[in-house]
Amino acid sequence: MKFKPADNIQDLQYFGEFGGVNPSISDSSTYTFLEAKTMFDTFEGNTDGCYLYSRHTSPSNLYLGEALAAMEGTETANVAGSGMGAITATILQLCGAGDHVVSSRTIYGGTYAFLKNFTPRMNIKTSFVDITKLEVVEKAITENTKILYCESVSNPLLEVADIVGLAALAKKHNLKLVIDNTFSPLSISPAQLGADVVIHSLTKFINGTSDTMGGVVCGTNEFVNSQKSVIDGASMLLGASMDSLRSSAILKNMRTLHIRMKQHSKNAAFLAEKFEADGLKTVYPGLKSHPSHEIFSKMMNKEYGYGGMLTIDAGSLTKANELMELMQEKNLGYLAVSLGFYKTLFSAPGTSTSSEIPEEEQKEMGLTDGLIRFSIGLDNDIERTYETMKSCMLTVGVL
Ligand code: PLP
Repeated sequence: MKFKPADNIQDLQYFGEFGGVNPSISDSSTYTFLEAKTMFDTFEGNTDGCYLYSRHTSPSNLYLGEALAAMEGTETANVAGSGMGAITATILQLCGAGDHVVSSRTIYGGTYAFLKNFTPRMNIKTSFVDITKLEVVEKAITENTKILYCESVSNPLLEVADIVGLAALAKKHNLKLVIDNTFSPLSISPAQLGADVVIHSLTKFINGTSDTMGGVVCGTNEFVNSQKSVIDGASMLLGASMDSLRSSAILKNMRTLHIRMKQHSKNAAFLAEKFEADGLKTVYPGLKSHPSHEIFSKMMNKEYGYGGMLTIDAGSLTKANELMELMQEKNLGYLAVSLGFYKTLFSAPGTSTSSEIPEEEQKEMGLTDGLIRFSIGLDNDIERTYETMKSCMLTVGVL
């Protein structure tokens, strides 16, 4: 049967304490017990439905986690205070001293820096590979490898992971396939394609209003509960928990995610086709020229499109900067990092979100100076947007 992520979210029904149409917000960091023994049992993890302390979990966080698990089709999910909070708690739950990670070389700069500079302090080593080449991925696996790590659509190069192929490799070598699905919520459902753990930065499309940080880990009960263990759970002990007020706000914003994703995709597809036809070097998974267009098409939940992210190459950093400044002046969007906002956001990843990656390595992976990453907004009249963008490009000499 076809997987329907938005329908799964909508099938959940919650009421507030007084019949409210939204669940009540649990405005407490700690919870009382009528009997001391129940408190002991809760510490031992034996009491369902009892809350202990909000770093562990809260009713509001459970509601949001349930909606995200329904979206990804996993048994459960645990929310975190940021995407990095979800990523670091997952890697450190699965790996200890002496273990090894095989990771895509094009991933969000913060994740790259964590694997490259931080985890080696704990003797966790990472090999960075071209994730689109399954034979290269397999070659990098050693007897110490525990995780295959990548993004479904990578930041910033928009490389697309063959999740089915990677899942087969993970199974063969007894590894966990961890996928960051931040760039393609609803469009791609990694757990349905064989991923063991699916992560999102909720800061981006899922919340959609650029007003908070958030993250989530979706997976099996066994894995997610292990992260929440008071004895040795990376989520509980590292403490990147989400506040209940924020999780209730994100849950409300999730109600419109399916409508927003369709509009982001529609607008991005329109611009990508126009830019390419104008002769700009354009990368968008929905373009036939994208090297993994077929793979994305096979994996996707069609109605949500190819997502809201695209890149163009402006030729040089100077030109990229001039173009971005002019586009901001013309109110086409904001020169800002992050993604998934109603307004278009643009930045040059080489000097911003991927600046943690050394210049030499940026070159090797094809991250050029003039690359501009766009998170295309919810513009009502995208043709008008295109015309104004084109005139900016002509003014600065990118076209
Ligand atoms: N994953 C991806 C693909 C991202 O782009 C980002 C941030 O830009 C993160 C994870 C980190 O998320 P956060 O900023 O919410 O910690």
